[in-house]
Amino acid sequence: MNKINRREFIKLSAAAAALGTLAGCTGSTTRSKGARIVVIGGGPGGATAAKQIRMMDPSIQVTLVEANKHYHTCFMSNEVLAGDRTLDSIQFGFNGLRGHGVNVVHDMVTGIDPKTRMVMTKGGQSLPYDRCIVSPGVDFKWEAIEGYDANVAEKIPHAWKAGPQTAILRRQLEAMPNGGTVIIAPPGNPFRCPPGPYERASQIAHYLKQHKPRSKILILDAKDKFSKQGLFIQGWKRLYGYGTDNSMIEWVSAAGGGKIESVNAGAMSVQGAVESFKGDVINVIPPQKAGKLAFVAGLTKGDWCPVNKKTFESLIHANIHVLGDASIAAGMPKSGYSANVQAKVCAMAVVDMLNDREPGDPSYMNTCYSVVGKDYGISVSVVYSLDETKNAIVAVKGAGGLTPSDATPEMLAREAHYAHGWFANITNDIFG
Ligand SMILES: Cc1cc2nc3c(=O)[nH]c(=O)nc-3n(C[C@H](O)[C@H](O)[C@H](O)COP(=O)(O)OP(=O)(O)OC[C@H]3O[C@@H](n4cnc5c(N)ncnc54)[C@H](O)[C@@H]3O)c2cc1C
Repeated sequence: MNKINRREFIKLSAAAAALGTLAGCTGSTTRSKGARIVVIGGGPGGATAAKQIRMMDPSIQVTLVEANKHYHTCFMSNEVLAGDRTLDSIQFGFNGLRGHGVNVVHDMVTGIDPKTRMVMTKGGQSLPYDRCIVSPGVDFKWEAIEGYDANVAEKIPHAWKAGPQTAILRRQLEAMPNGGTVIIAPPGNPFRCPPGPYERASQIAHYLKQHKPRSKILILDAKDKFSKQGLFIQGWKRLYGYGTDNSMIEWVSAAGGGKIESVNAGAMSVQGAVESFKGDVINVIPPQKAGKLAFVAGLTKGDWCPVNKKTFESLIHANIHVLGDASIAAGMPKSGYSANVQAKVCAMAVVDMLNDREPGDPSYMNTCYSVVGKDYGISVSVVYSLDETKNAIVAVKGAGGLTPSDATPEMLAREAHYAHGWFANITNDIFG
């Protein structure tokens, strides 16, 4: 038998370790057979995790509990407001997940008992788990803006959860007069989809420019700067006259008195720090916190859920993982893309742990596309790695990027095209 030298030995050991990590990504051992996972929430976080676990290890039983029969994506819901797509085009069902062997239950989870490892539902079910994955999205801090609550939101919609709220806002835009004012009031950080309010302003401007060109959009912001600000403003200048007397969009920063303090639904007005503003259509996006279940289950610290970022296991309750908007996963933004990626990292870790394997080193990424107008898209992409000692997700220097400020019309049209391609891909990845 040939002897190997030390250098060859090290090389072979490294190759074996790499294979070990790969093996850790998929495949079952007898250990995981019959293990039970309960996933709560069928959005990008929960649905992706449920599907991925079944794909990686079909011996694991996965139950997904989702309150609604259908899910409306918030992504591309701003195009519904513009009339460029239908509400049906952002609606998805769960038969794809059933096809992967996920047991889908439509019920509302009312509690999780971490001691007995049991999930309780409004419908009276008790579902035992070995590991539980929670992705309940966000809830609103209704108390933050005087005069604004869930009832008022029927008249002054937030449309920050897609579906009926999107339909209300769309109907109001259709009904408003040419020459009317649309107020959009975005919250302070952190909140779901940092570029979302500004894409919304763009999409509404795109609609008004074609159908009610004398109308205005007033963004009353609780912040002094916002995501992709330079690129949005450049787009608004090119498409909607931003900065001129005829600008369709006006942005008022918090420092400029933009942060709203109260809403008067009867008078259709909002009170800023200095003056009050009247709108024909008002879209208040309230400050946010983790979805209610995260609080009920005792998974929160402050407004959000602290997690081990390698596995997304809760730092408060063992065997419960929290993903997506509800989790503290900064520097990733609260986005559908992030939730989908975090779900894959979590699913891989859960499969590894159930098979007595050490989870591998994760890598994460996010891209946020925004469609500013017809054939005009912009994006920001970031790749992240884990700093395990600090439990921190950190951007990888030199990876990712932003639409260049000197992008040609062809490049901007391509970005819009990529945004639509991304939507088709991610919704298939989540629900298909
Ligand atoms: C206007 C707008 C545009 C956006 N555009 C983009 C974009 O272009 N790209 C992007 O990446 N992201 C975008 N986002 C953000 C994205 O929608 C969210 O970040 C994403 O939906 C978060 O996924 P999640 O799984 O954490 O939560 P959610 O999508 O909110 O899913 C949570 C699910 O859990 C269910 N649930 C909650 N509590 C319970 C319970 N107790 N029992 C049973 N079920 C429960 C809910 O019914 C819901 O289906 C946008 C958001 C908005 C508002």
